[in-house]
Parts: sequence; C-alpha cells; structure tokens
Amino acid sequence: MSKRSGLIAMLTIIAINVNAQFGKVLSKAKNVEAGKKLVKAATLSDEDMATLSLQSVQWMDENNPVAEAGDPYADRLNNLVTGLENEDGLVLNFKVYSVVDVNAFATPDGSVRVMAGLMDLMTDDEILSVIGHEIGHVKLGHSKKRYQSAYSISAAKDLAAANTGAGKILDDKEIGGFVENVLNAQFSQSNESASDDYGFKFLVKHNFNYHAMSSAFQKLADLSGDGGKGSITSSHPGSAKRTTRAKEWAEKQDQKK
Ligand SMILES: [Zn+2]
Repeated sequence: MSKRSGLIAMLTIIAINVNAQFGKVLSKAKNVEAGKKLVKAATLSDEDMATLSLQSVQWMDENNPVAEAGDPYADRLNNLVTGLENEDGLVLNFKVYSVVDVNAFATPDGSVRVMAGLMDLMTDDEILSVIGHEIGHVKLGHSKKRYQSAYSISAAKDLAAANTGAGKILDDKEIGGFVENVLNAQFSQSNESASDDYGFKFLVKHNFNYHAMSSAFQKLADLSGDGGKGSITSSHPGSAKRTTRAKEWAEKQDQKK
C-alpha cells in the first residue's frame, strides 16, 4: 500500500468518526465538497502549501504584536539578518513578535518570526543559530509535513462547514484553529537533529560564530525546567544532549582551521 493511499484511508476513518460525532447526516452537496477537501489534504501541491503557509503567517502577524521599525528588537533583528534575504533558494522575510515567549519559527513561504523573549535570552550569534535551525526545518521539508498534517486534521474537523473561500486554501474562520494545530505539532527527534546539522552548517557558511549553537542550546536546557507550552523547549526537546553535540561539531570545525 502506498503512503498516499494510506493517508486517504486514514482520513476516511476520521471523516466517519466526525460524522458520527456531529450526530446528523450531512447534505449530499456538502459531503462532496468535504470529500474533495480531504483528497486535497493528501495531495497539497507546493503552490497550495506556499499559499496556506502565507495565509497562516498573515493570521499570526495580525494576532501578535509585531515590532515596528524603530523598536529596538526590530532594529536588532534587522541588523542581524542583513544579507540573509535569499537563503539557500528561499526568499526570507523577518519580523519580531513583542511577546515574552522564548521561541522562533520559520514557515514554508520563507517567513521567519522571532519572539522578543528569545532575543532577551540570547546573544546575536545565538539568535542566528536558532534562525539557521528554523530555516533548516523549512529547507529539509519538515515544516511542509507539519502543515500537511495540520491541514488534514483541520479538513476533517470542519466537514460540516466545508467551503473554501476563493484564492485561499482555508476559510477565514478556520485559519486560527489550523495555526493552533501547526503550533501544537512537534517535529520528530530525527528532524530536530537534521535541522541542528543544517543550522550548524549555516553558521559555518556565513562565517558566523558557530560556537553559539551549543551555548544557545545550553540556555534552552537551563530553561527546560519550566519549558511549558509556547516555549521553544516544548517543541525542541533534549536540549542538554544537543548542547553536547553542537559543542563537538564546533570543536571539530576549530580543528579544520
Ligand atoms: Zn526545531
């Protein structure tokens, strides 16, 4: 059985459960629409993905306090990322959210968002190591997978109101719930390791201080005692182990000089 048909089968099971849960028979027309949407979830094209991820970021930008130019956090980040507008074929845009969360993320459309709480905790070099890691999740296809699975959940949840607005992947009233699904989804340990590797190479490539990755992880490890929901430590477990590994990479890199 191929992976794709496996996904469709799984979604069909969810659809049956949702129907039962709603306790009513959906109209035939809506069922057809919902069916289309479920199939689409399994076959989201790269173009759809870019639209969906952009739609999500726009929603997040509208629902978070974005630091404007002139704000010390915004200016600090802008200085840091000068020259990183096109990284590894991905056109990037950067914003700071003026929130206390120690977190950052990047999305498949190339948006990178850094929380002020992370900037308070970390040095410039450490912030760059986190940015490199987050870009890694996008370039290695992890973010796309996360969006894909969140979309699948969202499509099944909204069976009863299956209508998609023109030019958008998800209806306006669905996007908030969808973003929540994306944020709650976790990357696997192997994805994290691969992104660490990507992030480290990113630091080396740009002549940034590659020792900053281990010190960034050390700070996250120190925090992990209270790393609840909304913290980068909740989505990035095992910081202590990753500190050691990043340190080893840096020591190896030192020897190459
Ligand atoms: Zn990560």
